[in-house]
Amino acid sequence: MEIAPVTTETPPDDAPVIVWFRRDLRLADNPALAHALATGRPVVPVYIHDEGGTVRPAGAASLWWLDGSLRALAADLAAKGAPLVLRRGNCEAELRHLIAETGAATVFLNRLFEPEAWSRDADIAHGLKAEGVECRGFNGSLLARPGTVLTGSGGPYKVFTPFLKTLLAGTEPSPPVPAPAAVSGVGTLASACIDDWSLKPTRPDWASGFVGTPGEAGAAAALAAFVDHGLGTYSRDRDRPAVPGTSRLSPHLHFGELCPWRAVAAARSAAADGRVPGPEAEKFVAQLGWRDFSTHLLHQFPAMADRAFRPDYDAMPWREDPAGLAAWQTGQTGFPIVDAGMRQLWATGWMHNRVRMIVGSFLVKDLLIDWRVGERWFWNTLVDADPGNNIQNWQWIAGSGADAAPYFRVFNPVTQGEKFDADGRYVRTWVPELRRLPDRWLHAPWTAPPEILRQAGIRPGHDYPRPIVDHARARLRALDALRTITPARNSDD
Ligand code: FAD
Repeated sequence: MEIAPVTTETPPDDAPVIVWFRRDLRLADNPALAHALATGRPVVPVYIHDEGGTVRPAGAASLWWLDGSLRALAADLAAKGAPLVLRRGNCEAELRHLIAETGAATVFLNRLFEPEAWSRDADIAHGLKAEGVECRGFNGSLLARPGTVLTGSGGPYKVFTPFLKTLLAGTEPSPPVPAPAAVSGVGTLASACIDDWSLKPTRPDWASGFVGTPGEAGAAAALAAFVDHGLGTYSRDRDRPAVPGTSRLSPHLHFGELCPWRAVAAARSAAADGRVPGPEAEKFVAQLGWRDFSTHLLHQFPAMADRAFRPDYDAMPWREDPAGLAAWQTGQTGFPIVDAGMRQLWATGWMHNRVRMIVGSFLVKDLLIDWRVGERWFWNTLVDADPGNNIQNWQWIAGSGADAAPYFRVFNPVTQGEKFDADGRYVRTWVPELRRLPDRWLHAPWTAPPEILRQAGIRPGHDYPRPIVDHARARLRALDALRTITPARNSDD
């Protein structure tokens, strides 16, 4: 968070300041809001639902979370004295209307660093400046602003570990800033009604099983619960999908209901008090570092939004496989850990990180389907769908990203299941048709003797699909595909 005092150029002393909320849906630790309040001027908080613009529209599951988060922010702001103004349409046009209505001379915002939003915001700032309205941007979403974590020669990092080291050594933690006691607004302004935006699905309400409590209070509660119950065993449990061993903070962080520095501070203070071992806290901080790394990369290499970070991977001979894709999307591949993950995603809007890696590998390697297809599905189905994290992680899985898993390391969905879901609790939760199958065959039901299958009530191909690929052969096909793009460099060892 940038804390430097703000001096505004001063048209009328009482000209209000617009605070343009976007993915910073909180009152505490919110630099744009804090600086707006520090001017002593009335504040006009606005959220604009961007329509028809150049920024990739949020996916369906994200919109569900956004609905809850906006309602929470609106309630919090109303309680402080400044109702949230909701507008819908072209962001610049809506800001101009609001400026005309209020006489505001400044717009404060917390920056979005992904390329499309970054250039949209730059255009808006340029356009408003020509009319004497100043736009001021702050970093409220990342531990460090992209462009400030650089190698010795001044370039961006492409490898995570040194990035993290420089990030943590060279960035001043943002001190916590409590939510303001009051926000003085400007009286009643026209505002859209969130119910009319239909952000949540209704007919049918396929999001009824989504988990999490959107909003700043929900974020604070999730952080506190994790510090009390998960952080102490984070490195042991974070890879076990049946165990609630991770923070579940991802949608809260994506929508800016929580400042990442507050999460760092909570983890480190638990370590300092002796409530959790220090290395556990630092392991969690490192994951927050991956979040920064992902967005820094996307900001610095905008082409990676839809092109391989390592350009030779754009020549990968991806397959068109509508039937395979549909089986993957609906959790009907015949590989229990893959199907469990895809069903968890569909039912809850979230999937465990280990399983994201397994299902991602299955799509790009076993099915040889383009990582962008998987990225799009996740974009629509994850409540935490995030431009930087989603793209970077899909490229990591595909082997085409910065510091990526090598393409020739193909996850075996059976051994991954046996290792990370050894007692089968995760698979049995999400693939209930297999619940009576003994552990020994649970992750590879096609290997079970007919008698065992009969006792478990499973008719292969009826109650549960047969595997849609032979993993060993699919792996060789993936390696052959890889050799076509990088014949000399890669090997299968
Ligand atoms: P925790 O383990 O508690 O981690 C704390 C926080 O650190 C997370 O909330 C997240 O903000 C950050 N983090 C953790 N792991 C990663 C990572 N690998 N990369 C970047 N940040 C990380 N995460 C998203 O937030 N949005 C996405 O769209 C997204 N898409 C992904 C796609 C694929 C194919 C894969 C393999 C991973 C993806 N991730 C994404 C990263 C990761 O799976 C989630 O952040 C994590 O599972 C969220 O759960 P949590 O909050 O309990 O994580």
